[in-house]
This record gives sequence, structure tokens and C-alpha cells, in this order.
Amino acid sequence: MPDSSQLRIAIIGAGIAGLAAAIALKDEPGVDVQIYEKTSELREVGAMIALGPNGMRTLERLGVTDALDESVAFRNESGHPMIYRHYKTDEVVSLDTHSQPIGQRHHTARFFRPHLQQTLARHLGPSSIQLGKAFQSCSFDEELQKLVVTFADGSSELADILLGADGVHSPVRQFFVPTSKTRITGWTTFRSVFPISHVEHIPDLPREAVHIWGPDRALFVTPLAQGLFSIVGSHQEDLDAPRAEARHQAAAWDSAGGVDDLRKFYKSWSPLVRSIVDATPYTKVYPNSAADGLESWVLGGGRGTLAGDAAHAHGGAFAAGGSLAADRLRRLGAQAIREDAEPHTDRVQQTVQGRNEAMVRRIGKVESDEELRSRISNRPDLRWIREHDVVHAFSEARSASSTGQTGPSGQLSSL
Ligand SMILES: Cc1cc2nc3c(=O)[nH]c(=O)nc-3n(C[C@H](O)[C@H](O)[C@H](O)COP(=O)(O)OP(=O)(O)OC[C@H]3O[C@@H](n4cnc5c(N)ncnc54)[C@H](O)[C@@H]3O)c2cc1C
Repeated sequence: MPDSSQLRIAIIGAGIAGLAAAIALKDEPGVDVQIYEKTSELREVGAMIALGPNGMRTLERLGVTDALDESVAFRNESGHPMIYRHYKTDEVVSLDTHSQPIGQRHHTARFFRPHLQQTLARHLGPSSIQLGKAFQSCSFDEELQKLVVTFADGSSELADILLGADGVHSPVRQFFVPTSKTRITGWTTFRSVFPISHVEHIPDLPREAVHIWGPDRALFVTPLAQGLFSIVGSHQEDLDAPRAEARHQAAAWDSAGGVDDLRKFYKSWSPLVRSIVDATPYTKVYPNSAADGLESWVLGGGRGTLAGDAAHAHGGAFAAGGSLAADRLRRLGAQAIREDAEPHTDRVQQTVQGRNEAMVRRIGKVESDEELRSRISNRPDLRWIREHDVVHAFSEARSASSTGQTGPSGQLSSL
């Protein structure tokens, strides 16, 4: 039985956002945090995920310093967050840099997703996470002045605050804002993580994170910690093309993909790329989905809010998902705070959408080599995403709210 004198926060979802939020809140005096996760175990699911300096700094601030260790995080030795190569010649066409002196531990890093998730989970006791609890609905008990959170197994829990960290399709978001549906974007990634021994024999194998750009698709390759290697292929389809939509809807997130399809995608690329793809033992398919941003993250009359992909369901790109998931928690206090405007995440969301639309416009167009090189060299500068200073943004939001820019809080029952 929870201690009724404590502020009880129910977090839905034990992904990176839910785990990080629980770590941020667990030592707050007078706060009791519980995570409810629908799966029956925290399994090893997922492939490579990247965090920029914003995500790395947030992990450090949370005390999750072990996630920054080389045994978990892989960083480019050159210090360049990303290296861009040409799909035919393998030559380096362009380089990303960090915009300000950033300590090596905060450099952009790539993770095997289960390593990151397990590292976060180790910072919470097992009693903080209840597995096999799929959020279904929520109501407000006037007498108890508590939320009643109901799960698919018929059980329910009392809480003061509900935080939906339940991913891009967020049942919590859809409960509070039923019109907020996800849609398939037509951008599909093929991800594989495997022991580096599969590709070690390849001469000139990239030893850093490299993005290889071709006219209509790209391939990302990187070593990972603990002797792993990852490749991420991606391509964009025009959903207005009748067959494309049907194919995307049939593929489920994290489902097995045809490694032969992957090989076909890159068959006209350089011998180095083809050797890497040929040696890739398997791949999994991740059709991306996105939802429009919400007008407010203050839900349920001030008792509900969202974090991670649930809050900004942009569909994933630019290493923004994991870092935003981590960033978002800096803005959570022991009580839900009103945030009617989130210019940063809105801008991320619009940028990802703009990127997808630009990719669709390029479909079927023949791009000259000169145009490709120019597109690589003139790519948008996304350091404002990766190096977003969330502490500064949080203190600005706080001072704005302390100067009276907060709104009335309604009742959950009125929704
Ligand atoms: C299985 C999985 C694999 C992924 N693999 C990759 C990857 O390889 N590369 C990459 O870049 N990104 C991956 N992602 C997405 C990436 O983790 C997120 O974009 C980012 O880290 C933000 O995390 P999040 O915690 O907001 O959401 P998520 O990581 O999506 O976590 C949401 C959590 O909520 C749980 N959940 C959903 N519905 C309910 C419900 N009704 N009740 C209770 N719990 C619920 C889910 O099971 C999940 O554990 C993956 C996500 C998942 C769920």
C-alpha cells in the first residue's frame, strides 16, 4: 500500500524516457515513483541508438555516469560526431564538428540499445518497475483526490501524477488526446547489430561512425562497445505510390527483414559497402511513424504529462529521439509543470518532417554527382538539436512560469 503522504508518480513505459524519468525523480523527497511496463520482461530488443552531447550530459547529471563509459558508449576517436562519405568512391566528403569545446565524455555516442536500457535499469531497484502492466485508462476519484490508473489485466493503481513515457504510439497520449494518431511516414530503417568479427576481415572497414550518402538512400555504419558492429540502412518511399503504403503497413516495428532486400538496395555501391552489407548476418525492419505535436503537454487537468517519443512523436532522425527522451526529464519536477509552448521540440518535429518531405520530393529524380556532393556539403547544421542546452531552457521556462505565465488547471473528469 503506497504511503498516502507521498506524491505518487506513475510512469507508463520502461523505455529510455521512462527509466530516465524515474531515476531523475527517485531521490526527490516526498516522492514515490513507480514504472508500469506492458512487456513481461525488459528484453534485449532494438539495435543501434545514438545520443548527442545533450543526451550524454543529461545522463551524467542524472548520475548515470556508467552509461558514458567506453564499455557501453562508442565515440569516434577523431572527435567528429559524424563523417560523411561518398557511396561510390568511399571518400570523405564532409565532417560534422561539435560547435564548442565539449569534453570527450560528452561527445556524440552510439549504443547498442539494450546496453543503454540495462544501464539505466540498474539505477533503479527492481521494486520500481512493475512488468506486464499495460496502461488502459485513467480516471479521477473525487473522494480520494487521486488518479485511478487501470491496466489491461484489470488491476488498477492510485497515483497523483501520470507520466506517459510509452513510446511513439503512446496509449497515454491517445487516451488524453484521442485525435492524436500516429501515421506511417514512409521512411524505413533496416538495423543490424552483430559481432564485429563478421566484418573484421574487410580491408578499410570504417573504425568510426560513418554516414555514406548515395543519390536516393544512405547507409550508416559504426562500431559499438563490447566488440559489436552496426549498420543502419534507410530509404524513403512515396506513400502516395499505391504499393509502397501497403508494404509499410504490413511490416511491424522490429520485425525480421530480408537481408537480401538490404543487399539489393546497395548493389551498385562501392565494393567496400557491398562487402559490409554482404557480411551482415541479419537485419530488422523499423518502419517509422510520427504524430503531430500537441498544443500542450499538460493533460488531465495538470495531473498528466508525457515524456520521450510519447511527447514528441517525430518519427526519429538526427539522433534526436533518445536525447530528447533524456532531456525532457530535466523539466519534470515533483509536480507536473505547465508547458503550453515547447518551441525546441516543435522545431525538431518540423525539421524531421521537412527532411522526410524533401526525401519524398527527390524520389525518381536523377541527381548528378555534383548535386549529391553539394547536398552532403550543404546539409542542414543540426548542432542546435544535438547540443541543446536543456538546463538553460528549463530555467527560462521556470522563470516564465514564476512570472505568472501559468494557466488554470482543470479537472481530469472534465476532459
Ligand atoms: C522495443 C524497442 C526497440 C527500439 N529500438 C530502437 C533502435 O534500435 N534504435 C533507435 O534509434 N530507436 C529504437 N527505439 C526507439 C527509441 O528507444 C526511442 O525513440 C527513444 O529512445 C525514446 O524512448 P521512449 O522511452 O520515449 O520510447 P520507447 O523506447 O518506445 O519506450 C516506450 C516503452 O513503453 C512501453 N509501452 C508501450 N505501451 C505501453 C502501455 N500501454 N503500457 C505500459 N507500457 C507501454 C513499451 O513497451 C516501451 O518499453 C526502440 C523502441 C522500442 C520500444
